[in-house]
Amino acid sequence: NRRIVLASRPQGQVSLDNFRLEEAPLAELRDGRFLVRNIYLSVDPYMRGRMNDAKSYATPVALGDVMGGGTVGEVVESKHDGFAVGDKVTGMFGWQDYAVSDGAGVRKIDDTRVPLTAYLGVAGMPGVTAWYGLNKIIAPRAGQTIVVSAASGAVGSVVGQLAKLAGCRAVGVAGGAEKCRYVVEELGFDACVDYKAGKLYEDLKAATPDGVDGYFENVGGEVFDATLSRMNPFGRIAVCGMIAGYDGQPVPLKQPSIILTMRLLVQGFIITEHLDVWPEALRTLASLVAQQKLRYRESIVEGLDHAPDALIGLLRGKNFGKQFVKIA
Ligand code: NDP
Repeated sequence: NRRIVLASRPQGQVSLDNFRLEEAPLAELRDGRFLVRNIYLSVDPYMRGRMNDAKSYATPVALGDVMGGGTVGEVVESKHDGFAVGDKVTGMFGWQDYAVSDGAGVRKIDDTRVPLTAYLGVAGMPGVTAWYGLNKIIAPRAGQTIVVSAASGAVGSVVGQLAKLAGCRAVGVAGGAEKCRYVVEELGFDACVDYKAGKLYEDLKAATPDGVDGYFENVGGEVFDATLSRMNPFGRIAVCGMIAGYDGQPVPLKQPSIILTMRLLVQGFIITEHLDVWPEALRTLASLVAQQKLRYRESIVEGLDHAPDALIGLLRGKNFGKQFVKIA
């Protein structure tokens, strides 16, 4: 069993020598367990936080432990009544070829109408994150303007499409002309602002002539500042992520007083603390994917040994759409 473990904790930016590829023998399967062969590993921004030994909502990965992560895979051996050889499953099986499970937190999936990778993206954790922040925190009404940062990514792409389905004006913020073109032309957002083009505030102002009623925050830093200054009174902000600061960079906020003057509601959330909404959100998202009403894009890297590069790339915006590693 090949696996990638945390070799050292990053000081500032994460680098390849923070990881180590190891071979370890598979233990004999005990009763009540089954063996999964991982097919795709989901690479997600939260993984960077788990590499730090800092107080957070989740426990860090211990040095020498396998890096955690969601995967889709296939049951290849089973001594568990609920799981048979050939079942496709998704669970937290980590950065490795094989994993043993007792079934806790594992979901059987059907890839006849929804592709396997979608269960880690649009019809999985990132999709539910988008659904929750938009519907439960921003709670948009038709005609309102909703802005989302990291708009071409796994979460952001779903936020804007759900906002459009709810009758809103959807405005994305993304890095580069190519990502912005995709967000407008292929995902159907009304506008997308390229924050790397050098006039973020002016471009955002032009894209939000009626101000901003709801902001879905994925990034932090200058994008947060620019959007804050476009908020309408009683606007709502779902703080989902602050990726601009994950790899050791500070993300200062220049004008927090706007929260007071515009009487904004600002709510952070962690999607794994809202398990009650997952069944409804997953049903809705899977059905929209099957009806081709939700579009998405994927960045797939081949080979478990390239998982560290994939995470480093994700933290620098090199991914274009949901990032995966194809393991098998
Ligand atoms: P994405 O697919 O959006 O990939 C990350 C994107 O972030 C990059 O492509 C890049 O897009 C952007 N980015 C990276 N670095 C920077 C930077 N320094 N400044 C601005 N943008 C940057 O990832 P996800 O959709 O998986 O995650 C999006 C956000 O949602 C993350 O912040 C993540 O932590 C958060 N999240 C939170 C959850 C929760 O429970 N609260 C659950 C899941 C995700 P670009 O090129 O456009 O800049």
